[in-house]
Amino acid sequence: MENFQDKISEVVIRRLSDYLRCLNYAKSKGQTLIKSSDISTECGLKSSIIRKDLARFGIFGMKGKGYNIDELIKEIEKILGLNKTKNVVLIGAGNLGTAIIKYQGIKNANFNFVAAFDNNSDKIGKMIDNTKIYSNERLNGFIKKNRIEIVLLTVPSSETIKIVDSLDPKFVKGILNFTSVILPPEKNNIFIHNIDLAKELEVISYCMKKCLS
Ligand code: NAD
Repeated sequence: MENFQDKISEVVIRRLSDYLRCLNYAKSKGQTLIKSSDISTECGLKSSIIRKDLARFGIFGMKGKGYNIDELIKEIEKILGLNKTKNVVLIGAGNLGTAIIKYQGIKNANFNFVAAFDNNSDKIGKMIDNTKIYSNERLNGFIKKNRIEIVLLTVPSSETIKIVDSLDPKFVKGILNFTSVILPPEKNNIFIHNIDLAKELEVISYCMKKCLS
């Protein structure tokens, strides 16, 4: 399995995601062309960084005109693998899981939020917005039947490894791990991304210290 971190840094990938938001916003305002300086104003990044990021993927603007927005959106979506809808489930429909399911921003054309799973019998069969909670016992059958590619993990940390090891890599290709267990970027042929607000606070604390000292 190729590790994308060996090729393009995650920071660049995150910036592409920001550019996409910015481009969609410009498009929604009726714009058809955009300069790197406009993206720069929206994203708060230097134009030179934006041009360099895009050039890495062979994308260059037209002299004096900038980039065609529709084409750039298409290119970035292709790079991010967003040109094919991916089915997603969440495991652990507790406080955090419920907040994520209720977050409208996660539900878009690229990610089809299919179901939630939990092992608490009081929760099974209930709905969170339009998402049904199923028993964990049905997880692997469901994943196979519904071609689930991405799992969001919001279970207690003690359950993390057991669940990750039970997922079938034939179908599941990515995990967003919200638990406090730090998992490697790749396990059992599945890409893993750890998300932790405490870590983000530490990073911002470092940036403040660096800027203020
Ligand atoms: P919670 O107790 O409210 O929810 C956990 C849910 O998981 C419960 O509904 C429980 O029934 C279910 N569960 C337990 N074992 C399970 C299993 N084997 N299979 C399926 N479901 C199972 O907890 P919470 O506050 O929502 O936190 C959930 C996780 O997210 C914890 O690991 C916590 O540390 C983490 N967390 C991370 C962040 C972050 O920034 N990443 C923020 C808050 C919480």
